[in-house]
Amino acid sequence: MSLSRFNALQTIENRLEPLPADFGEGRFENIASYFGENVFGDEAMKKYLPENAYLSVKAAVQSGQKLGRELADVIAKGMKEWAQEKNCTHFAHWFQPLTGKTAEKHDSFFSMTHDGRVIEEFTGSALVQQEPDGSSFPSGGMRSTFEARGYTVWDPTSPAFIMEVGDGKTLCIPTIFVTYGGEAQDFKLPLLRSMAFLDKAAVPVCQLFDPKVNKVTATLGWEQEYFVIDEALFNARPDLALSGRTLLGRPATKNQQLEDHYFGSIPERVYLFMRDLETESHKLGIPVRTRHNEVAPAQYEVAPVFEEVNVAVDHNQLLMDVMERVARRHKLRVLFHEKPFAGINGSGKHNNWSLGANTGVNLLSPGNTPSRNLRFLTFFVNTIMAVYKYADILRASIAHAGNDHRLGANEAPPAIISVFIGEAMTKLLGQIANGKKTDDAAVQRALDLISKLPNLELDNTDRNRTSPFAFTGNKFEIRAVGSSQNCAGPMTVMNTMMGLQLIDFKTDVDKLMAKGTEKEEAILMALKNYIRKLKPILFEGNNYSDEWREEAERRGLSNHTNTPDALEILRSKTAQGFFGKSGVLNATELDAFLNVQLHAYCTKLAIEAKTLDELVNSSIMPAVIRYQTELAENIASMKAIGMDDAADYQKDVLKRLAKYASEIKEGLEKMNKAFDKAHHAESLREEADILCNKVKPQMERIREAVDELEGLVDDQYWPLVKYREMLFVR
Ligand code: ADP
Ligand code: MG
Repeated sequence: MSLSRFNALQTIENRLEPLPADFGEGRFENIASYFGENVFGDEAMKKYLPENAYLSVKAAVQSGQKLGRELADVIAKGMKEWAQEKNCTHFAHWFQPLTGKTAEKHDSFFSMTHDGRVIEEFTGSALVQQEPDGSSFPSGGMRSTFEARGYTVWDPTSPAFIMEVGDGKTLCIPTIFVTYGGEAQDFKLPLLRSMAFLDKAAVPVCQLFDPKVNKVTATLGWEQEYFVIDEALFNARPDLALSGRTLLGRPATKNQQLEDHYFGSIPERVYLFMRDLETESHKLGIPVRTRHNEVAPAQYEVAPVFEEVNVAVDHNQLLMDVMERVARRHKLRVLFHEKPFAGINGSGKHNNWSLGANTGVNLLSPGNTPSRNLRFLTFFVNTIMAVYKYADILRASIAHAGNDHRLGANEAPPAIISVFIGEAMTKLLGQIANGKKTDDAAVQRALDLISKLPNLELDNTDRNRTSPFAFTGNKFEIRAVGSSQNCAGPMTVMNTMMGLQLIDFKTDVDKLMAKGTEKEEAILMALKNYIRKLKPILFEGNNYSDEWREEAERRGLSNHTNTPDALEILRSKTAQGFFGKSGVLNATELDAFLNVQLHAYCTKLAIEAKTLDELVNSSIMPAVIRYQTELAENIASMKAIGMDDAADYQKDVLKRLAKYASEIKEGLEKMNKAFDKAHHAESLREEADILCNKVKPQMERIREAVDELEGLVDDQYWPLVKYREMLFVR
């Protein structure tokens, strides 16, 4: 039996004693003194590796140079030495299977020789490759059971780190996860491929402006939103524990209307959790910097300084893992679900994406001279053009069951992908597009102006917060990513679409130059042509409004409001070309990815439906019936003493209870019937469709009736912790 509502409330009552200020791992020293102490980073490598090995790892990170097998032994030895000095007993290949979470398989350094001596060893081959039993990770059909092996392979571009759980310390090695045949079955290999592809496409474009550029990397700064609730209350909500969200629950009479939580002071218990979390993160080299309350009650955000995209992805995955562990230490739970509570804001994970060159410049940052501005304009316009062309694929990369509650519902941001660039840039693009010639005075003025515009670095008040994709001065912010999601998915698509677009751009410019057009003129002509085409994707208004939905339809923009629809594009020739031409996913990998996503969608909905069915039958309805009996008995007693007239209120409530109860009965019947049909569907797509269009609406209908009952039934009988108790009791 799960923890009862009243036990849970009693438990938190007992927690009112404030935690001691030195509780947990929060440290007071200067962050710089321990930042990255659990990372085998530059400093540790210099100390524990011979110079040639150190330089080889650096070269692998900087220019993707392959590391020779013979070096692996040397590096493994240094890593082991470092790790053992820090009391590590185990090592693990750490990877990111398509479940969206992280996985690790621990092995001990401890080993035995043939003559029975105990030794501690960590060989180059153990560093480079491992064979976890991959049969239970989703492979979308790429592995048959007799060939269930999956391999993890070291990714030297992301540094190894030490994971501390209690007293246990494990050396974790970031890896990719592939099949026996080398096919990707994780989020990391496609991401790494997309980075290499983008680099190759972007360098020649950069060289139009600066011949010194020889490497381009994507940068990512994520903003992670999450909820925090007390552990006892979490445990008393089976729906939260099993599906990550409340399937039932009447919105509290006070929620976020007063907007008094946003940037408000952080409750003490949560503050102590955050401090502890920050210390843990900093030891792991995760550069978290910002913390604040979010819009909804009990909702918060944490954000780091941006990093190169591969490391940023690892850091976000690692952070989510650390958050869950640190929260438990504080008797709290973090919720990463996109919509844990109805009626208040959901959680997203904004992905701030930009491009950096080896020369140290941010390619999406305007410079001080017209030529720098032309480079900025090139990357700016090409990004928008890429989104315009491949919006459906970007949409597919953020499609999953949890995110449907944000993107598909009346919430931020909508499922329609559009780009917000702000008033100043809109005006400038207009001038360029309408200029008769590229050396037109208006165009030149536009170019001159870019860097002089004070409002390019938009401040918060000026910013359009409703757009799913916004330019924010020196980067694009992708806001439609779900809070529980691995950033690698959408980042892979961003890099790939940008790479493809930059190749097209270079071809267009080359063609013009071959005809004798001067370089700058050719660049401007190509950009002008794009600006004219991409207009439909630009939108500056309120993205939540009905008018925008209608307008977007007129413009021919897609609006896939649910996961099965949004994923459909991955079956198309467009998607095969997109991932195939760039070498990011071959046809088998793409098909497997789609299957894994659809399967995950179906599984999540099935768990929700079953949990709801059980909760309603075994918890809610028994409480309702008990109250009905009490009312009925009361009415009978009133009648017995001749006060029938005075029982009107009771009769009315009884009638309403009966009405909602029969609504629930019908809902459950229909839901279960549809559920059976889904179970016997011929294909995953059909199953997903039935769950989405037949099961889910019944779940919502049941919820509505139950939430009404919550407002009617004697509070003492109500079995589930209420919203007001979860969101406001500290
Ligand atoms: P906010 O959007 O909350 O106003 P900022 O604009 O300062 O905050 O930054 C938000 C996020 O954008 C941070 O995580 C930051 O690291 C990231 N960011 C800033 N510059 C870049 C960049 N060049 N590339 C990627 N992310 C960046
Ligand atoms: Mg932001």
